[in-house]
Order: sequence, then C-alpha cells, then structure tokens
Amino acid sequence: MNELITLGSGGWIPTPNRETCCYLYRNNDTILFLDAGTGISNLYRYSSILKKYNEINIILSHFHLDHIIGLSYLLNWIDKNQKLVIWGPGLPYYQDNCENIIQRIIGGDYFSRKIMDYTKQVEIKDYPGNSFKINNIDVEVFLQQHSAPSFGIKIDKLIYYATDTIVEEATVSNSKDCKILLHECWNIKIEDCQDKHSSLEALISQFSNNKDQIIRLIHINPNWNTEEVIHVKNILSKYPNIKLANDFDRINLN
Ligand SMILES: [Zn+2]
Ligand SMILES: [Zn+2]
Repeated sequence: MNELITLGSGGWIPTPNRETCCYLYRNNDTILFLDAGTGISNLYRYSSILKKYNEINIILSHFHLDHIIGLSYLLNWIDKNQKLVIWGPGLPYYQDNCENIIQRIIGGDYFSRKIMDYTKQVEIKDYPGNSFKINNIDVEVFLQQHSAPSFGIKIDKLIYYATDTIVEEATVSNSKDCKILLHECWNIKIEDCQDKHSSLEALISQFSNNKDQIIRLIHINPNWNTEEVIHVKNILSKYPNIKLANDFDRINLN
C-alpha cells in the first residue's frame, strides 16, 4: 500500500475550496506529512488512517505560516501514545535550529499547548543532511530559491514536492525520475513572477515534456477568480498529465 492524499492544495490564505499546503504520504509502515498548513484541518476525514500508525512524521519545506500553522491543529487528531517526529531546515540555513523555531510558535505566547508535550515522545530535528532515511523511506532535500530558504523534498524517488520556489532547472533534473511532481504555481504569466514563486508558463515550458510524470500544481494562488481558474484549466487541457491539485485528491502509488 502506497498512497498520497492532498490535504491542502492552496498557498498563503485558505479559501472555501483549498486549505494551505499539506500532503499525506503513507505506505504500510510509515506515515509522513509534507508540510503542515491549514490542510491539517482536513484530517477529520482521515483520522482512522492516522490511528493505524505508532509514529507520525512531518517534513517541513520551510517555516512560512501557511506551511506550519496546522501544527497547532494536529493536537485534535494525534494520540498521546503516538510518537511525533518533525523534520525541517534549521542551522545553517536559519539562525536557529528547527526545534527552537517551532517551539517558539507552538507554545509560549502563541498557543497554549507546547509542541513538545503533544504526545509522550516528540522529536524535532534539523534535516540530518541532503539525504536521509525516515524508517524505510528515502528522503532527499534540495535548497530552492524563495524569499526564505525553502527545500524541495523527494520521497522514495516516487514523489517530488517543490513548493515556495521559482521554476528551477535543478528541479527538472532532480525530479525527472519521480512518478509524481507536486509543483507550486502562483502566477499565470512569466512576467508576473518575481524571484520567489513559479508561473504556469514557466512550468509548462520546463516540465511538460515529461509526459509520463503525473504533475499536480499546488500552492494555488488564493486570489485567482473563477475566470482565471477556467483560463488555467483551458491551458492545461493540452497537457493531460498536468492538472491543478485539489483537496482530498487521493493517488494510489502501487
Ligand atoms: Zn507558501
Ligand atoms: Zn514561503
């Protein structure tokens, strides 16, 4: 068993259709969240899945609030007896380690429960290198260009998660062997993108040749109106392997 569930396909601001960045990947032994945005709130549908695992792992791409605020909701579904392990960037990319950064936000002045007290065993770790293991899962992380250090995350050479980044040639080569690419799409036109986010035009020019890859566009701009969404879907109709991700999408990876 191997599957990917989209819990939050939006960026920055939750909308009636999209919570912010959060994806659930699991196999028989391990459950792993990619980011913990407001999409964690969609766990109400999957609490029975969560209960099957003794250990919950979360990998954070960076610390912008739309990617971590759901850590304050996780308490609603996690069991005291589960082990919680959070992996994120820390030193030398930030001025402090991941544990201290998360502890400042989830606890203290900002939230009445301390993250380290969520369960009987909580560990918060800096990425132990550019490639590491979480149980039986191979993880690789790649520094990306964004307004703060953010990381592309590759899981088991199966999923490549690239959010909060410009379109980079390195991502094209590092992700090409993956079955699924989750890539952010913030603007439609290249000229509307500065140096922090990706455009649909740039994504199509760089990634559309890889026709065997399932490409899902994520971190969708909350300000797109209905006409813009229709316009994007019309453009994408020429590329059958590329679609907008939607909350509750469930992809079987067996
Ligand atoms: Zn973001
Ligand atoms: Zn960001």
